[in-house]
Formats: sequence, C-alpha cells, structure tokens
Amino acid sequence: MKRKIMNEMKLCFVSDSRNESFARYSVTAFAAQLDPNMEELADIRTAVSEAVTNCIVHGYRGRSGKITVDAKLFDDRSLKIRISDRGCGIENIDQAMQPLFTTDTSGERGGMGFAIMQSFSDRLDVNSKPGRGTTVTMTKKLK
Ligand code: ATP
Ligand code: MG
Repeated sequence: MKRKIMNEMKLCFVSDSRNESFARYSVTAFAAQLDPNMEELADIRTAVSEAVTNCIVHGYRGRSGKITVDAKLFDDRSLKIRISDRGCGIENIDQAMQPLFTTDTSGERGGMGFAIMQSFSDRLDVNSKPGRGTTVTMTKKLK
C-alpha cells in the first residue's frame, strides 16, 4: 500500500549562515508532530544543519542565493526532507559523497557532511548539475 502524506511544509531563505539554525529549528519543530525520541531529534538537527551548511559554503561559496527546504510527514511515520540550492552544483557526486572527501582547502572542513546525512537517512538522494545547483533528499522512518 502506498504511504500517504499527512502534512507538509516549505521554507525559502537566503544563504546567510544565521539561517542554518533557523532551518534546523524549523524542521525539528515540524517533525515534532511525529513524536521523535531525543536521538532522532538530534539526528534531524544535525542532518539539516550539514545540508544547509553545504548550500551556503559550497553551493553559493559565501555569495548570496536562495535555499529551499521542504519536509513531508507520511502516515507510516516517515519524514522526507529536501534541501536545495541553485549554486555551483557538484561535478562528481559519487566522489563528493565519499567520507573524508572535501574540496575545501582552508583545512576547516573534514568531508564528513554527506557521511553524517547518510547515517541519519534510510535513503539519501543527491541530485546536482554543475552550474545549476544541488538537491539533497533524505528520508527517514521514525520509530
Ligand atoms: P564537512 O561537511 O565535514 O564540513 P565538506 O562540506 O567538505 O566538509 P561534505 O559535506 O561531505 O564535506 O561535502 C563533500 C563535498 O561535496 C564538498 O567539499 C563540496 O565539494 C561538495 N558539495 C557538498 N554539498 C554541495 C553543494 N550544495 N553545492 C556544491 N558542492 C557541494
Ligand atoms: Mg559539509
């Protein structure tokens, strides 16, 4: 039987690093309807934070652009979160998703963002086109 959407929301904000906390609070507040446990809440916060940070630092490289976040809750207690930017895009998605891979040269980034998103999600899809932008979709079924 196909799962049914119970609720959905959408946010759009500029790529200011202050909006990283706005995004993670908003998504966790929305997901609270499913009564997640503490561990699940912490995981949602971290996964959203990693994805939004990537849009800001890699997608737009510190320049101003729009980020959209939408989330859906399903009747089987699954949560689907989609985070998109219209920034520079990713040349090689498989390589980018490898743990420890980073294009950062400042030494500040460890290349663990996708690995963290992967460990949170039951399913992680990354769609990206150079010059067009990146969309990350995470699906997680809560307990
Ligand atoms: P960390 O997340 O540990 O701070 P990181 O951001 O480099 O380091 P990942 O989040 O795993 O590591 O991302 C790996 C690489 O994928 C990035 O270095 C970057 O090259 C590319 N990337 C990720 N997200 C985007 C995005 N939204 N737009 C463009 N490139 C991206
Ligand atoms: Mg990252």
